[in-house]
Amino acid sequence: MASKIIFLGTGNALVTKCYNTCFALQNGEEFFLTDAGGGNGILAQLEKASIPVTQVHSLFLTHSHTDHILGVIWVIRLAASLFTRGKHTGLTIYCHDECEEKLRAFCRMTLTAKLQAVLDNGIRFVRLQDGGNFSASGFACTAFDIHSTKTKQFGYRAVLPDGQTLVCLGDEPYNPLCQQYAQQADWLLSEAFCLYSQKEEFKPYEKHHSTALDAARTARELNAKNLILYHTQDDCLPERKRLYTAEASREFAGRVLVPDDLETVLL
Ligand SMILES: [Zn+2]
Repeated sequence: MASKIIFLGTGNALVTKCYNTCFALQNGEEFFLTDAGGGNGILAQLEKASIPVTQVHSLFLTHSHTDHILGVIWVIRLAASLFTRGKHTGLTIYCHDECEEKLRAFCRMTLTAKLQAVLDNGIRFVRLQDGGNFSASGFACTAFDIHSTKTKQFGYRAVLPDGQTLVCLGDEPYNPLCQQYAQQADWLLSEAFCLYSQKEEFKPYEKHHSTALDAARTARELNAKNLILYHTQDDCLPERKRLYTAEASREFAGRVLVPDDLETVLL
């Protein structure tokens, strides 16, 4: 059976008209989450996408910014609670050292003693190094440091059960130091903060972000087959798909996808 990707959120940190960027990879009955947005809204998005938390057994956290990490606390809280009642078999969180330390600190500060007792038992951490391999819900992945200019951040390259490859570049522009991990992907996931034509309005470069046009150039250079754009502004959501696709298609001849929240793509 083909894998699927379900976009739970597609916006950047400060959006109000959609959820922050995070997604689930589906392999049969299993779901592998990447990031969880900025809060309790992750539980609503999972429910709307008909993803039972009991079927989420792995989660990758890219970095510790609010719009990525805070939703993870809610997933941990719910999974831990289900685990104490024998209704969850355990959640494994894959991330680098900084993320693990911050998640553990948030858990200490915000979860009950009963739920904290589930850490390292029902909720397990796998600490990743740059270039480290891990297997999550049947996806064979390699984590890599995206060489962020802001805070330590990892992306990953996943091999899907059918042999296709998917690369998550995190939420910053591609750095050529990651070429070995990012090139020749069947599916390349890149942030696009806004359109190139909006760069004076939204100033993506000052914030270390890309435009749809820049992401398309990267996809062309890396020889990607399909380009997925997310982590965008929410100023033009009803028109976003059309506008971002048109701009990216000027530089990239492959397929460009600009998913809405809760959209599913067959991989
Ligand atoms: Zn972000």
